[in-house]
Amino acid sequence: MERCLMENLGEQKGQGVFISGKIAAVRDHGKLLFIDLYDRTGSVQCFVPGSHSMFAEAQKLSPESVLTLTGKVQERPEKNRTEGLNGDVEFVVEELTVLAKAQELPFDLDMADLNLDTRFDYRPLTLRRSDDRAVFRVQALIAQGFRDYLTSQGFVEFQAPKIVGGDAEGGAEVFPVDYFDVKASLATSPQLYKQIMVGVFERAFCIGNVFRAEKHSTSRHLNEYTSMDFEMGYITDHTDVTSMLEGVVRHMVATVAEKGERELAVLGAALPTFPEKPFPIVKLVEAQEIIKKEFGDDCVGEPDLSPEHERQLCEYALKEHGSDCIFVTHYPTEKRPWYTYDDADDPGYTKSFDLLFRGVEITSGGQRVHEYDALVRKIKEKLPNIDPEKEFGFYLQAFQYGMPPHGGMGLGLERFTAKILGLANAKEAAIFPRDRNRIDIRLYEQ
Ligand code: ATP
Ligand code: MG
Repeated sequence: MERCLMENLGEQKGQGVFISGKIAAVRDHGKLLFIDLYDRTGSVQCFVPGSHSMFAEAQKLSPESVLTLTGKVQERPEKNRTEGLNGDVEFVVEELTVLAKAQELPFDLDMADLNLDTRFDYRPLTLRRSDDRAVFRVQALIAQGFRDYLTSQGFVEFQAPKIVGGDAEGGAEVFPVDYFDVKASLATSPQLYKQIMVGVFERAFCIGNVFRAEKHSTSRHLNEYTSMDFEMGYITDHTDVTSMLEGVVRHMVATVAEKGERELAVLGAALPTFPEKPFPIVKLVEAQEIIKKEFGDDCVGEPDLSPEHERQLCEYALKEHGSDCIFVTHYPTEKRPWYTYDDADDPGYTKSFDLLFRGVEITSGGQRVHEYDALVRKIKEKLPNIDPEKEFGFYLQAFQYGMPPHGGMGLGLERFTAKILGLANAKEAAIFPRDRNRIDIRLYEQ
């Protein structure tokens, strides 16, 4: 006999089958026992009659214990039926095998309202909560949507290294790796490698962990996060990248809508609102004018948007354009990394962009400098104390030997997941969050 999954039990009415799963709850009525058993596809109410030889043992089982049950699927009496999967059937237990006993749980898994620290302290257990399972199933769908869309557009996936010599971009906070005879660190981004891969595949993407030694604690920042990156060749300017990204975002959301219905319902999450027209796109200076006009906050001329300004601009985009997304382009040269392409028509500004979604930045990207001489010049301007060939010679080979005009972007998976699902903190969308206070276990008592 083959294991029957919960989602298929309804087709087995009157039949003898075996099921395997974990106990969600036990209800002991003295003379009979109900066990709610769940597997990856759903759950069913199981019924153990008092006369069963294993009755006494079953009474003692804690939630999360792992069982195999053989028995029959039968219709539930009309008055006991419930909504949802297997609400009209129950499983009458004939044989009961305990595959693994769970100790008594420290809290009622699904019922308890746990604070974030407790959730993370008990992560191997709390990930089994139905809401956490839903979050990370949706996250897997987001990554799948990213991968599927880009693959369909001719991109090739590659694995970027996580140990890099020196500091990938010169400036970002890095974690040093104390092992080699030379300066090495954990990668803060796959940036230089994905550009190299444009010279190889024209279009390349990667999904991988990056490491940032952020010196602050916020609800948006982790010390290790999953960066979803793509880079594409033969572009005219940054708007080819924003168009591709818009396609990716719409497809990721469509994948969640199509395959994550159950998870969205568990979490009570509302999918984003997108316009039929392309996402709104404004220059930084225009965004600042909008913020001044709509919210009375004069930030015109500042080099970046503050978190509050990002929130305000998104509020405007939803009200005016019916869009939870808005692109902001043309950040000043001084605010963007040295590989960013300057806009000759708008001196002092770059062909760069951020994508803001539901109040926060989820992506930075832009057109990149693709000519060797121009690139070396930009590195020297930004980092006057280094010799570009000495520090970046390996990367610069890609430009010495011919690189098409190109651009790309990086999107934080945890931040995006949190925003899609309406979670207050990106850490809730990090499966094993690392921040200043935690690497699995708490590092400091607060
Ligand atoms: P912020 O201004 O919010 O600190 P950033 O501009 O430093 O972000 P980028 O280097 O542009 O970040 O990274 C691209 C994307 O990666 C961000 O838009 C965000 O989605 C994500 N990201 C960046 N840093 C973190 C972090 N520490 N934790 C989680 N996600 C991050
Ligand atoms: Mg950014």
